[in-house]
Amino acid sequence: MHLFAPTDAPAAPAQRDRADIPAPFKWNLTHIFADWQAWQAGYEELDAKIGEFAALQGTLVGGSPAAGRSHGPSHLLAALKLRDDIGQLEYKVAYFASLWYDQDQRDNQINAKQQQVQILFAKDAQASAWFGPELLTVPLEQVRAWMAESPELAVYRFALEELYRQQEHVLDDKGEQLLSLASRFENTPNDAYSALSTADAQFPTVRLSDGAAVTLTYGQYRAILSTNRNQEDRAAAFLAFHRLYEANVNTYASLYNGVMQRDWFVAQARGYRSTLDMALHGNNIPPAVVENLIETTKQGVEPLRRYHRLRKRVLGLSSYHVYDTTIPLVDFDRTYPYEDVLEWLPASVAPLGADYQRQVRASLAGEWIDVYENPGKRSGAYSAPVYGVHPYMLLNYNDTLDAVFTLAHEMGHSMHTLLSHQHQPFVYAGYTIFVAEVASTLNEALFLDFMLSRTTDQRERIVLLQHLIDGIAATFYTQVMFADYELQAHRLVEEGQPVTAAGLGEIYFSLLKAYHGDSLDYDEASRATWSRIPHFFSTPYYVYQYATCFASSAQLIKQLTIGSDADRSAAIERYLTLLKAGGNDHPMTLLQRAGVDLSRPETVRAVVDQLDLLVSRLEREIEAIS
Ligand SMILES: [Zn+2]
Repeated sequence: MHLFAPTDAPAAPAQRDRADIPAPFKWNLTHIFADWQAWQAGYEELDAKIGEFAALQGTLVGGSPAAGRSHGPSHLLAALKLRDDIGQLEYKVAYFASLWYDQDQRDNQINAKQQQVQILFAKDAQASAWFGPELLTVPLEQVRAWMAESPELAVYRFALEELYRQQEHVLDDKGEQLLSLASRFENTPNDAYSALSTADAQFPTVRLSDGAAVTLTYGQYRAILSTNRNQEDRAAAFLAFHRLYEANVNTYASLYNGVMQRDWFVAQARGYRSTLDMALHGNNIPPAVVENLIETTKQGVEPLRRYHRLRKRVLGLSSYHVYDTTIPLVDFDRTYPYEDVLEWLPASVAPLGADYQRQVRASLAGEWIDVYENPGKRSGAYSAPVYGVHPYMLLNYNDTLDAVFTLAHEMGHSMHTLLSHQHQPFVYAGYTIFVAEVASTLNEALFLDFMLSRTTDQRERIVLLQHLIDGIAATFYTQVMFADYELQAHRLVEEGQPVTAAGLGEIYFSLLKAYHGDSLDYDEASRATWSRIPHFFSTPYYVYQYATCFASSAQLIKQLTIGSDADRSAAIERYLTLLKAGGNDHPMTLLQRAGVDLSRPETVRAVVDQLDLLVSRLEREIEAIS
């Protein structure tokens, strides 16, 4: 999903009844189960296997030491294989219900089946809770000796060693019990945040210059900022929307303090040096990656400022504010029928080689994609990795340029899934978010290159360049600024400083200025912007990954498209190896093998250089039409 990417104006949806949409434009869920009866049989099989797994408790370490030595590896292997069987079946059972539900969320019967799945998953979590603690009573050296004896067990080496690595910060029984008791209120600040910012929010109404009164939900707010050509309307929407947050800003500060105090409490209890260290430990990312990302980006803000100065000039504004940063530079109302995209998308991935291209074609033709909107269908877009079947994609394709890029994006995820599932054993078939958005961003970038090279329409070229530049501004610069904010705010807590609404507002406001300099006119209301970013409350230290993925994909694109034939085919090979690797190693290691080192300033600077070139190109294009 494009979490922060600017959106085009949603076209008026011409919704058809699902039954009237021809089969090639709908996903075919019979590839998972023939019907609900077959699903029910799968569900029962899963239930039985979960019971079998629970019964294995005690088998890893049971018996005398001598017996342990001889039976240990076979028992461990049996448990791991059963775990894999359960996991594979879970994919099918869960996705059949959830994909079916997303076709039409008004269907209560399917909703009930989904809940049935949730209940079974909870049962599985309980039935398998013994495994980690029991295994960890066996010394790692012993497990390594078992793996040396058994090639089948050695397949699980990375997964098993990860369990031991994660163990470094696990406490004794008493400590863990205390932490698990405390975990019951861990989610309270974020739950309260959700309630305050959505369920209990009294969305304001603004009157626009054409006389229309609009209730500012988040969707409406974004639509005004990205489509309304009247600056006063955008300003009114911005101020009214921020007033909603300003009205409760002390409460938001208190909730955010709750989030950060929790993070610091757990970090100290588990023996981490900082909250950042704790957040990065799971994926084994060195904190220097985040520090390098922030430092290098801060030194590379000039192209971003140049872009905003250009926008101010082109839009003919005498002052230029945050609420002027997403409106399109030119009017453009071309539509992109899905049939055209079916030809373009495979053509755009030619730089990735014939086999990748063939698989993209196959996935477009295979009834894997639910293309159009219909009443009751889930909004947005996603790629669902159904192990043992194939990825499915949900779209709400509405012929806009944004919809085209969404398809290119989701296709990137699907190809990653496909290649990973083809080449990895089940245990490594999944991949982390740290690499996931590389595949999707790279596909989008290739698609944009393709569109830029084929268009003869100057306005379309400007729209495409703006799309690319806005993507860099939103997915890279804004996310780095957010990461910078999270780090500074958490450091207040770690250093025992007070956390107040004024203090948090000042951090955010200073950062906005540090990144945008004199290219923006500032509004005091921006001091409250931090309080409307849900990721800060729900998933601290998450957003920097959008920026690292973006930088990685920029670096890869460079390697894939520049240099000799031999260099490029080596780069294709490295990139495909990354996609085929799934989650079989730490994400930094996987990226390094693909030729991307995120701890180096050059990697981050590649995005800055790319933006610099794009802004120059946009300047030339605009000059040419004016
Ligand atoms: Zn994505």
